[in-house]
Amino acid sequence: MISLSNIHLYKGGADRKIKTSLQIPAGSYFQLFAGLREVVFLDDVPASRVNNIILHAESLNLYAKALPFNFKLNDTEEKFLPASRSEESFTSIVISKDSETSKRANFVFEQVMAEDVPEAIRKERCREAGSFLGYPDCCINSFLTMAADFEGNTQAFHHIYNNTKGVCNLFLASPFRLTEHIPCSYSCEKSISIARQTLSLVENEKRSFGPFVDFFREIDDLLCMSWSVWKFIAFVNPRKKEDVVEYDSFFIFEGPAKKSFLEMKRVADIAKKSNAFIIKNGTVEFFNSRGGRLETSGIASAGSSAFAPGLFSWSRA
Ligand SMILES: [Zn+2]
Repeated sequence: MISLSNIHLYKGGADRKIKTSLQIPAGSYFQLFAGLREVVFLDDVPASRVNNIILHAESLNLYAKALPFNFKLNDTEEKFLPASRSEESFTSIVISKDSETSKRANFVFEQVMAEDVPEAIRKERCREAGSFLGYPDCCINSFLTMAADFEGNTQAFHHIYNNTKGVCNLFLASPFRLTEHIPCSYSCEKSISIARQTLSLVENEKRSFGPFVDFFREIDDLLCMSWSVWKFIAFVNPRKKEDVVEYDSFFIFEGPAKKSFLEMKRVADIAKKSNAFIIKNGTVEFFNSRGGRLETSGIASAGSSAFAPGLFSWSRA
């Protein structure tokens, strides 16, 4: 799930370039300490960071355990495959508040990730895992009935997020993810409540999370550009003229994205030099429109249709 972890914020436009990185899963930690959840689950942790994260958690009197599964990016950097532990491998860490919870949670998350667990049991473990993570029952149930293959599938993303017409709720839609889970609907009151509580926790930490809080205050309407929910998401402060979207701020979020890290970096560089784009036929073309002419600054290909970029329009509810 996308959380506050590893968010890289590029605020583009030729005249103001700011890059901020929030490198810790802050929202989840705040929720843990505030009793909104019992467990923080860190996915895709590079092996080189595992010991530091565990030591850090222990220094906060938390219980942390790396699960006995290691993954590695395949050659095209599109997929994680099982691997032996090495400098390039990734693993998952379960962080809990007390030793009782830790024992049970480590077992539950291990079963969720293991390959040889029967489907019915895995489902029950998923349910328990969701509950450890503080997800509302309604959302856990909705997640469990979703198509298993929705990962990387833009259609599924549309389906999940466009289930209410009209104004969307930024609290739920944002990759800042004040709620880490996929809500069962925009109007899910339990999710909105978690989101609001989390935002106020983060606001109280204004100093460290200034960029995040400012972003929330600054943006009322925005476009969300998406290749897929997991792959790559950008937020744009838009001025839309038919097909061309001009922007003064371009925010790129790199969550635990599972695909094309290099491509993301390349597109981020192009976006920072540009102030407009057009999405067409599975590609997004970036432009510089200053001086009244559209001058191409680069094209990003989105590959197969399931990964074709989409544009979503969001407003703060
Ligand atoms: Zn719900």
